[in-house]
Amino acid sequence: MHAAFDVSAPDNLMTARLIDGIALSQRLRGELATRAAALGARSHKPGLAVVLVGDDPASAVYVRNKVKACAEHGLHSVLDRYPADLAESALLDRIAALNADPTIHGILVQMPLPRHIDPHKVIAAIRSDKDVDGYSVLSAGELTTGLPGLRPCTPWGCLKMVESTGVPIRGKHAVVIGRSNTVGKPMALLLLQAHATVTVCHSATVDIGLHTRQADIVVAAVGRRNTLTAEMVKPGAVVVDVGINRDEHGKLCGDVDFGTVRNALGPDGWISPVPGGVGPMTITMLLSNTVDAAERLERLEGQA
Ligand code: NAP
Repeated sequence: MHAAFDVSAPDNLMTARLIDGIALSQRLRGELATRAAALGARSHKPGLAVVLVGDDPASAVYVRNKVKACAEHGLHSVLDRYPADLAESALLDRIAALNADPTIHGILVQMPLPRHIDPHKVIAAIRSDKDVDGYSVLSAGELTTGLPGLRPCTPWGCLKMVESTGVPIRGKHAVVIGRSNTVGKPMALLLLQAHATVTVCHSATVDIGLHTRQADIVVAAVGRRNTLTAEMVKPGAVVVDVGINRDEHGKLCGDVDFGTVRNALGPDGWISPVPGGVGPMTITMLLSNTVDAAERLERLEGQA
C-alpha cells in the first residue's frame, strides 16, 4: 500500500489531521446506548424497523449492519425481507402496520426499490415522526424552514464530523459538491443553518476548483474518484469525503484524492478517510434519530 493512502500510518506532522469516523461513532454510540437503556428502563425501548425488498447484495449488507448496530446498542429492531416481486400495495400495507406499532419508533425502507415500486409513494407512507431516514417531503421542509425534525443521516453525520474538529462553522465558506436530495442538498442546508456561507457545485458547474480553493469546508458527495484533488483545496480547510467508489485495484475509495489532498491541506487542515469516515457516522445518526424519535414519543405520551 502506498504510504500516503495508509490511514492507519502514524500521523505525519506536516499533513492534515484525520476526522476519524470510527472513533467519533464509538463515542456517540456510547451516549446513545446510555439513552436507549434509560428509555428501556422506562418501558420505551427505542425500536427500528428495516424493510428490504429484493436481493441486492449491497443493500443486504447495509441492512444487516443497521440491525447489528441496533442490537449492539440496546435498540430493538425488526428486519423485514421481501422478494423483489412484492406488490407495492403489500409494502404500503406493511408500512401502515409499522406506523401503528408502538414498539417501532423508526422505519427505514432500504433504497433502491424494485422498479415497479414508487419510492416517493413509499416514503410518503411512513409516519413523519418515524421517518428516521429524513427523506420525506415533510422532513425536507422542516430542515428547509429550520423547524425541529429528523435530519437525513448521512449529511447529519457529516455535520457532526465537521463540528468534531472544533473549527467553528459560523462565518466560514463551505462548498458542497453534489446536489442529491439525500446528501448534497440537505448538507448545504445544514451548513447554512450552522451559519456557513454555502456554495453548491454539481455536474454543470464549470470550474469546481474555483469554488473549492476558496473554501474553508468542503463536502464531496458525488460518487466519482478524484473529484477533489490537491490543487483544488486551500491549506487549513476541513474536507469531508462522502463518496463510495472503487479504485483500479478494486479497493474502496472516496471522491477525494486522499493522500495528495491530505498533504495539500497541511497541518492545520482536517480530512475524513474512506473507509472509516462518513460510513460509520451514517449508521450512528440512524441510531440517533431512532433514539430521538423514541424520546419525543415518550414526552408526548407524558403530556397526554
Ligand atoms: P447521486 O444521487 O448520484 O448524486 C450525485 C451528485 O453528484 C449529483 O448532484 C450530481 O450532479 C453530482 N455530480 C455528478 N458528477 C459530477 C461531476 N463530475 N462534478 C460535480 N458534480 C457531479 O449520489 P448521492 O446519493 O448523493 O451519493 C453521492 C456519493 O456518496 C456516492 O458515492 C454514494 O455512494 C455516497 N454515499 C455514501 C454514504 C455513506 O454512508 N458513506 C451515504 C450516501 C451516499 P447533478 O445533480 O448535476 O447530476
